[in-house]
Formats: sequence, C-alpha cells, structure tokens
Amino acid sequence: MIITAGAEAGVASPIITATIKTYYAPANPWHAQSNCATMSAMFQDIDLRQLTELTAPDRAFLSVYLASPQSATSLDKRFEKMRKAVEADERDYFDENVKSVQTYLERHPLKSGSQCLLSCWALDFFQAIPLPAAVPDLVWIDSSPYVRPLAQLQEEYENVAVVVADNKKARIFCISAAVAGDEKVVTGNIKNHVRKGGWSQQRYERRRDKQLLHYAREIVEALAELDKEENFRRIILVGGKEALQAVYEDLPVALQTKVAQKAIDLHKPKDEINEEIQALFTEQERQSERELWDKIRSEHLRGGLGVAGLTDVLAAAELGRIDTMIVNRTFHPEGRRCRDCENLDATVVETCSACGSSSVYEVDVVNEIVERLKQTGAETDFADPIDTLTAAGEIAALLRY
Ligand SMILES: [Zn+2]
Repeated sequence: MIITAGAEAGVASPIITATIKTYYAPANPWHAQSNCATMSAMFQDIDLRQLTELTAPDRAFLSVYLASPQSATSLDKRFEKMRKAVEADERDYFDENVKSVQTYLERHPLKSGSQCLLSCWALDFFQAIPLPAAVPDLVWIDSSPYVRPLAQLQEEYENVAVVVADNKKARIFCISAAVAGDEKVVTGNIKNHVRKGGWSQQRYERRRDKQLLHYAREIVEALAELDKEENFRRIILVGGKEALQAVYEDLPVALQTKVAQKAIDLHKPKDEINEEIQALFTEQERQSERELWDKIRSEHLRGGLGVAGLTDVLAAAELGRIDTMIVNRTFHPEGRRCRDCENLDATVVETCSACGSSSVYEVDVVNEIVERLKQTGAETDFADPIDTLTAAGEIAALLRY
C-alpha cells in the first residue's frame, strides 16, 4: 500500500542533508542584535513527547511537511493521489483532515520557509509548526503524528555557544535553531610580549599574565551565564591561540568537554571565519556520533549494555530500556502496524505476526522507535552514515539496564 504521495516524498528520501551549510545563513552572527528569533524559539519549544502521546483510532492523523511555499501549490494533487490509497473506513478522517489543512493554508498561506502541519479531526487537533530548515515534502497518515523530521531538526539545531576571541576583544554568542542570539562583548586589550630584560620585564610579564587571566575569567563568566539561559550542548572557540588557551584552562571541566577549538587569524574576512566555525561544528558533530557508536559497539560486542540492528533496538525501545539511540540518517525501514492488536512488525508482512490479521498498514519503523523513545525520555542521534554502523544494521542503542 502506498501511503506517501509526491515524486520525492517517499520515506526512502534522505531527510535534511544540508542543514549545516545553512546554519549561519539566516543571520550573520557578527551583526547579531536580536534575541533568538521567535520562530526558532517556538520550534525548539515544541514538546515532541506530548505530540507522540497523541494517538487516534486507526490512521486518523494527517502529517504534512512542506519544503517551501511552492510545495503548497502541488499539495492538492498529492492529497488526491493519496486518497486513492486510503482504506474506505479511513476516508472520512482523511477528508476532514485534508479540509482542515486546506482551510488553514487558505487563511495563512505559506510565504517563506518550510512548515509542518499536523491534523487529527477525530481528536479535534490541529497544529502548524514553522521549521528552521527545509525538510523533504511529505504527506503521511498514521495513528499518531509523524515526528521523525521534527526530532531530526531539533537534534541538528541544538544550542551552540560560540566564542570568537583574540587578546583584544571577545565576542560570545549562542546559535540556536540557526539564528544567532544576543552578543556579549568582553574587551581584553592584552598588550603584546615585550623584550625589555631584567626586573621590569618580569614585572611586566606578571602583570600581563594577570590581565590575561582576568580577561579569560570574564569570558568564562559570560559563557556560564549564557549556559544558564540557553543550556548549550557545545562550545566553539576560535581566534588567537593564547586567548583561547587561557579561556579553555579557566573553564570548569564539565564545559571543557563541550569544547571544539581552533586558532585562526581574526583579520580574515568574516565569511571565512564563519566557514571555520561551521567546519568545527560539523567536525565535532561527526566526532560525537562516532564516539557514541564506538561506545555502543564495544558494549554490544562484549554482551553489555548495547544492542544493534532493527529488531533488537525495537524490542529494547518497547521495553523502555534505551538510554541513547543512534541511527544512520538515511535509514528508512518499512514496517507494518496491525489495526487489530496494534502489534508492530519491523518488516513488510502480509499478516500480523502476533494475531494473524491481514489488516496491517505501512509505517516507518524508525519513526515508531523515535516516538517510543520520546515517551521514555531517551536521546536520539541521527548520524551521517557510518560504515560499521551500516554493517551492524544501521541502527543501535545504548541501554539503561
Ligand atoms: Zn495483530
């Protein structure tokens, strides 16, 4: 049964591949004045756990993802195509949901950016969510909202603190959902080393060291304050080697572990500096994915708290045993949910493996796992495909017990 519509909309399409490239595009952090924009704040505030707790009888939920305003123009065609694939007893729900989406879009046409629309007429539920980055077009019906793209975006757009510092000046800001927030500036004006010789030089150097330490402390204080407001997952330090080293050494150990740093010449064009920041971010992201997988793999290999492969991860998720799950971003396994007993089969089956019913419908198994993980407070990490993870079944998890 086909339950996706649109040429590029299939679940097999990779979701979000170029987000990092546009990470700094909406606002130039060097000129950031405003607070993290309302839209992204709204997006980060979406409570996925709440969404995943919504369940309807049958496939009464319609989830629509629009990549751009243009996607809205072809939406009716996709609805039409999909309607043909909807079972007769689900058609009423479908038609009412389509009406809700159409009415909403007539009143609030999508003028820019991407959007997610969730509708469940049976539960009297409707939500429109502006998205901070483009996701592939998708129309999906299920017994609950299709949250995977939202979970993926929230994970990609976690808060990052950035410190651009040399001995003269430091800029400290937080990037949240692709928008740069308020900037704090700390001035150091640390003088260069001099060669005078004798006592006066020693005094001068001591004074200079003290100034540098004081300057680093101010930066660290600003960072700690920002962490309280924004709770960032990473810190990126770029700029003069000496200033970065002083800041790093003064950071509490808990914050040191979040750091990626690189000495760069701040006289470079700002675009190049932003590129360096992006590259560091991506590198750190990939590194933490590999570290997570290494940890799970070694647990798995020694028969400890690690599982790999779809069937085992699904079973652990259903029992609430998962602490953190890692999955290749491109992995979209198709499964079947049973209408009669709600059993989920992680493969394509004609009849339910639990009760034998032939009333089964297509689901994205990873989406089902993500829903379960949100409900049990577990973390998910959507990784750039890792070869050894692919070989182990594309999905794995660290267990709580
Ligand atoms: Zn069944």
